[in-house]
Amino acid sequence: MKIDLHCHSTCSDGLLSPSAVVERALQRGVEVLALTDHDEIAGLEEARAAAAHWGLRLVNGVEISVLWEEVTLHILGLGIDASHAPLVTGLATIRSGREQRAQRIAQSLAQAGIADSLAGARRFAKNPQLVSRSHFARHLVSAGHARDISAVFRNFLTPGKPGYVPHQWCALEEAMRWITGSGGVAVIAHPGRYPLNELQRERLLEEFRALGGTGLEVVTGSHAPDEYVTWARYARQFGMLASAGSDFHGPGEGYRDLGDVPALPAGCLPVWDGLLPA
Ligand code: AMP
Ligand code: MN
Ligand code: MN
Ligand code: MN
Repeated sequence: MKIDLHCHSTCSDGLLSPSAVVERALQRGVEVLALTDHDEIAGLEEARAAAAHWGLRLVNGVEISVLWEEVTLHILGLGIDASHAPLVTGLATIRSGREQRAQRIAQSLAQAGIADSLAGARRFAKNPQLVSRSHFARHLVSAGHARDISAVFRNFLTPGKPGYVPHQWCALEEAMRWITGSGGVAVIAHPGRYPLNELQRERLLEEFRALGGTGLEVVTGSHAPDEYVTWARYARQFGMLASAGSDFHGPGEGYRDLGDVPALPAGCLPVWDGLLPA
């Protein structure tokens, strides 16, 4: 079965509407899809209607930005109840923090001689409540400050570079409470991408498990194949399930395409066994 449990729509920093994401997934042979917009669940209703129309199985998802020991982490909530009030209000709080952050990003870019970048980023953000670094990146490319998106993230928006600002996302415990409280399962997205040493990784995994964490995203476009093995080993060591997703953002954006998700390494227990709607 072709499964993809991580992707984005125009409700966050993806390029396709939720229904267009579902239709593309279907065309690419995906049978089970989770839409996991950053800090936003507004796309799930449209995605669900399209999925019902086309007979694709949709898992409600979200990718929550958290700050843990001064490191930004992304926590996937899968199988969440999108009407759970603490989840809805918690995500709204993160989105309003994004507004302040976007202003600080623009100030930082202005100090580097790039004026009016917030207006520029907003032109790329279909959801006015969700301005992300991706929208700034698209603006910087279109305004000629970088050749492509990866050049933007080499020269801007990352630590030590213009346009980077530290940000107080929500706490890991809060995101875990919203996800598990809404009946969902929590999965650490692309765990290999964070600047964590071995001791921090183990502390994170212990803490995450103690907070009710269920899985690790073992297979993702952010991991090289040898990292699939590394994170499969952590999953086994910490008694966690394994997830897999493309992290698709849009055609031609450099991420994997929908459904372009290699098989989990042998021995992994897949997180989707408990998520599939009957
Ligand atoms: P934000 O949540 O506003 O910090 O934006 C994070 C998003 O920026 C990620 O979800 C990616 O879509 C994008 N991003 C971060 N780093 C890179 C990179 N090196 N190349 C391409 N996109 C990136
Ligand atoms: Mn993104
Ligand atoms: Mn992410
Ligand atoms: Mn993502």
